[in-house]
Amino acid sequence: MTELLYQVDGYLKEFDAVVTNSVPSENALVLDQTAFYPGGGGQPNDVGMLNQLRVVKVRKTGDAILHIIEGELPSVGTQVHGAVDWDRRYKLMRTHTAMHVLCGTVFRDYGALVTGGDMEPLKGRMDFEFERLQKELVSVIEEAVNREILAGHEIKVKILPRIEAFQIPDLIRTKINLLPEGIQQVRTVEIVGLDLQADGGTHVKNTTEVGKIRVADYKSKGAINKRLYIEVQDR
Ligand SMILES: [Zn+2]
Repeated sequence: MTELLYQVDGYLKEFDAVVTNSVPSENALVLDQTAFYPGGGGQPNDVGMLNQLRVVKVRKTGDAILHIIEGELPSVGTQVHGAVDWDRRYKLMRTHTAMHVLCGTVFRDYGALVTGGDMEPLKGRMDFEFERLQKELVSVIEEAVNREILAGHEIKVKILPRIEAFQIPDLIRTKINLLPEGIQQVRTVEIVGLDLQADGGTHVKNTTEVGKIRVADYKSKGAINKRLYIEVQDR
């Protein structure tokens, strides 16, 4: 089992670890702990460095986090120093948080549920069951989202026992009930006063860190399913 440092501290950029296993067929390492996000929930994986070795991809397989590297695999027991590509990761944290503000705002104002989403640094798309969405609403939503970002909502991360998490009504709408039975702990990410989700990703601590967003495009995927594209302003 790898200790997932990014789940507790999303701002951890560097860390020390020990190689606990290797997978030569993928040129991958497993560590005792990691700050590298392996991807999931729409947020892409981190890249970066382990000692002098470039980490080109990180992915989760079962309980293990595989760090796929360029160059020769260090042997099991080797001490490594990890450095996450922070510029990319911080953009993803801001984008991921912006997606939650969008999701929370659209649910509060229109009752529309999210059915999916995807993001890259400073860009994201989100799908809703949102029959009423029309072009005229796009700028209204953009304004409402930017207002919430500016309002400076705090973001709180908690790791709860499964039973406790299942008693939170707000989590039910994000399909927490579909979590595999083996999972005994649920990580929740709350934008205080706006949004609460079961989520394994990385987010900023306060919505003001997101900066300004733009709803760049909108697409109708049928009578009910609509897609919104957002961009987070670079700075
Ligand atoms: Zn999320």
